[in-house]
Amino acid sequence: MSIFSRLFSSKITVDALKKALKNKEFVFYYQPEFNLKTGEILGVEALMRWESNKRGIVPPNEFIPVLEQSGLINDFTEFLLKQTLSDLRKIHDAGFKNTKLAVNLSVVQLKETNIVDKIQDALQSAYINSTFLECEITESKGIDRELLDSDVFKRLQDLNVSISIDDFGTGYSSFDYLRTLNIKKLKIDQDFVQGIFENPKNQTLLSSMIQLGHDLGFPVLAEGIETTEQKNWLEEHGCDMGQGYWFSRPLPLDQLLDFMQKKSKKD
Ligand code: C2E
Ligand code: CA
Ligand code: CA
Repeated sequence: MSIFSRLFSSKITVDALKKALKNKEFVFYYQPEFNLKTGEILGVEALMRWESNKRGIVPPNEFIPVLEQSGLINDFTEFLLKQTLSDLRKIHDAGFKNTKLAVNLSVVQLKETNIVDKIQDALQSAYINSTFLECEITESKGIDRELLDSDVFKRLQDLNVSISIDDFGTGYSSFDYLRTLNIKKLKIDQDFVQGIFENPKNQTLLSSMIQLGHDLGFPVLAEGIETTEQKNWLEEHGCDMGQGYWFSRPLPLDQLLDFMQKKSKKD
């Protein structure tokens, strides 16, 4: 769909999203996460798309805010967990038994009263051990006191589900929860990565974030790697993991499996 038809297509309504959910028009693409040193795929991140007959492929930033404002996101969470974990089962069954799955959960989703039960149910239905699931939360989208004081993080920890901080470096109050939450990974926002060679301050900030992560005992992943130069700089500066178009774009499940199979033959 051209940018012009997208611009002129009608506003996304709650009704349209309800229909899309019923008609199973939401799909997940998966983007691999790599060990920067060895090139091994450590996990995949689920990124949602709306494949709409009328609008073409709609990216998540356009419809997730509508899902959240309308409360429809709660119906959605169960679908997201069931679908992505059943896809992870297929990835494991294809022979990639150590692959982890990262899902993006917004603050609204983490505040759902039965979120931990939903996670537990979906893990059980797909026969996936909880240590394979990682929840990515975005610091800039308001990890607030109410959430920190709730028992959701403790329950996730008891369940052995990991928490990673997404878009690290873009929020304001991160030190408090870096101390209190049992975080397993920092994902540095792609703006820093893409600006590595444009502004020397990005290099200072990237080095400091990598150091901070390591001092606190977390592995650090750089998002949005698009060039060999960016990848090499990050590897040389001790970054543990990478993700981005240089390695692979987000792919539908069948293409992801093809990609993983071809890669494992080459390695
Ligand atoms: P995010 O979690 O930070 O995901 C990374 C975004 O960067 C994705 O956009 C991905 O396609 C894109 N990307 C990956 N590598 C590169 C690269 O090398 N260069 C560039 N320019 N972009 C790259 P996408 O899929 O449009 O997702 C946007 C945001 O929507 C995500 O940001 C995440 O916050 C949110 N999102 C996606 N799926 C879900 C979901 O299932 N639930 C929730 N709550 N949010 C989601
Ligand atoms: Ca993410
Ligand atoms: Ca991110």
